[in-house]
Amino acid sequence: MASSAKDDHPRSVKRVAVVGAGVSGLAAAYKLKSHGLDVTVFEAEGRAGGRLRTISRDGLVWDEGANTMTESETEVKGLIDALGLQEKQQYPLSQHKRYIVKNGEPVLVPINPAALLKSKLLSAQSKIRVIFEPFMWKRNNSSTVRDENSEESVSRFFERHFGKEVVDYLIDPFVGGSSAADPESLSARHSFPELWNLEKRYGSIIAGALQSSLFGKRDKTVETKGGPRKNKNQRGSFSFQGGMQTLTDTLCKELGKDDLKLNAKVLTLAYSHDGSSPSQNWSITCASNKKTQEVDAVIITAPLDNVKDIRITKRGTPFALNFLPEVTYLPLSVLITTFKKENVKRPLEGFGVLVPSKEEQNGFKTLGTLFSSMMFPDRAPSDTYLYTTFIGGTRNRELARASTDELKNIVTSDLRKLLGAEGEPTFVNHFFWSKGFPLYGHNYGSVLEAIDKMEKGLPGFYYAGNHRGGLSVGRAIASGCKAADLVISYLNNASDKTVSDK
Ligand code: FAD
Repeated sequence: MASSAKDDHPRSVKRVAVVGAGVSGLAAAYKLKSHGLDVTVFEAEGRAGGRLRTISRDGLVWDEGANTMTESETEVKGLIDALGLQEKQQYPLSQHKRYIVKNGEPVLVPINPAALLKSKLLSAQSKIRVIFEPFMWKRNNSSTVRDENSEESVSRFFERHFGKEVVDYLIDPFVGGSSAADPESLSARHSFPELWNLEKRYGSIIAGALQSSLFGKRDKTVETKGGPRKNKNQRGSFSFQGGMQTLTDTLCKELGKDDLKLNAKVLTLAYSHDGSSPSQNWSITCASNKKTQEVDAVIITAPLDNVKDIRITKRGTPFALNFLPEVTYLPLSVLITTFKKENVKRPLEGFGVLVPSKEEQNGFKTLGTLFSSMMFPDRAPSDTYLYTTFIGGTRNRELARASTDELKNIVTSDLRKLLGAEGEPTFVNHFFWSKGFPLYGHNYGSVLEAIDKMEKGLPGFYYAGNHRGGLSVGRAIASGCKAADLVISYLNNASDKTVSDK
């Protein structure tokens, strides 16, 4: 690929730079390339994948970042189909069996009303409150209680509907396990936008969810004439043979070596439209190659914290990013441990176990553990269990930074209590994410506004990734694909302008 200074002759193929080779950047680049554009991905690290990171060693396979994803976003299904990865999708065994610790014991999470009634997870009073929520939260009831402009916490939002015990024993472990955060620090509107909108529309979250899924089903019946077909979305979470990085590795292969620059931290971006041509407006320099590259548009998927370090200029004047608010990042340690099966006296079948903050009083210090080799038996030898445990987040930032030895002791102690794992683990691996997740906190609205302002101020510049619109792998992919669509229409408009200018 040409990487030189400005071409002497006009090009017909437009060029786009994508900053960051996490899943959002790679998905954006793949879409742009499929559209016939010339794409270069710049990645600061020596590897692609970002927070998708799989290691295979000594007969073990584990993920140090995301472990599973879903097909909730249409862009995900489109991408997997286009890459031909359906054959490699791996669905966990017994994935609907998930546990939450209550009074020191793992308790199965109820997945239907009958199971809820029997469950030990909630008291009779909380169960009654959940069952009666649709009657207590009639349409429009919500407007009297919630202030549309306030950043209500996740904790307050769910407490209003279901009471404190539901927050402590369902919401707290769920947000701890999915974003390393706590319900008090998170903004309800931005962390649970669908539920926030259901409340607005129906009053009751449960009645709203039932009605919208009913309407969703009706729509699908119309779509699928050939009888009911099980939507993959209903099959829940999945990974890939070889782990989550199979997805980003496949994207990299599709892009080709020349289009992906590793160890290429982007240092400067300059927009220099002089009115003569709407193309080649952007110049980009990176750490590995100080030579300037000219492109027509840019998609940034680097964390906002890193974007602040990039020197951006617009027609020679610095474009100061001082309006970007501080983003809080949550540190997280991921511990992989293995035990001989014979030494785990009470193994649990299923996806994993989450630990509510309240259970710290019973001596637990981890956020939760995935039963990785129970879900995917090919991740460890047949006589071995492989576990993936998370520690830190808002609950315990300092502990996230602890030594491998200290963390190993914590994990071993929690797994002993929960699963009867005896003795020392036969293998330990520790990976520390200093900035595991951005927090969708009470200032998150201002983060979105600042991203909009950045895009508006810089023509042909788009921002995507997990800081915008959701933390999950699926949301990051959707965000990357949307940015690619915006670039495509921006470049089409620019071409139309060139033609009409002639
Ligand atoms: P990233 O993966 O962070 O990619 C951004 C890239 O930009 C990085 O590679 C970075 O090196 C690069 N970069 C930064 N600055 C520059 C620069 N100046 N120049 C060039 N490159 C730069 N989600 C799920 O759906 N399911 C899960 O089970 C799950 N588990 C998780 C577990 C952990 C421990 C973590 C940390 C996250 C987990 N997530 C999970 C979240 C999910 O993995 C991420 O939100 C998603 O992968 C983010 O992708 P991204 O492309 O937006 O960002």
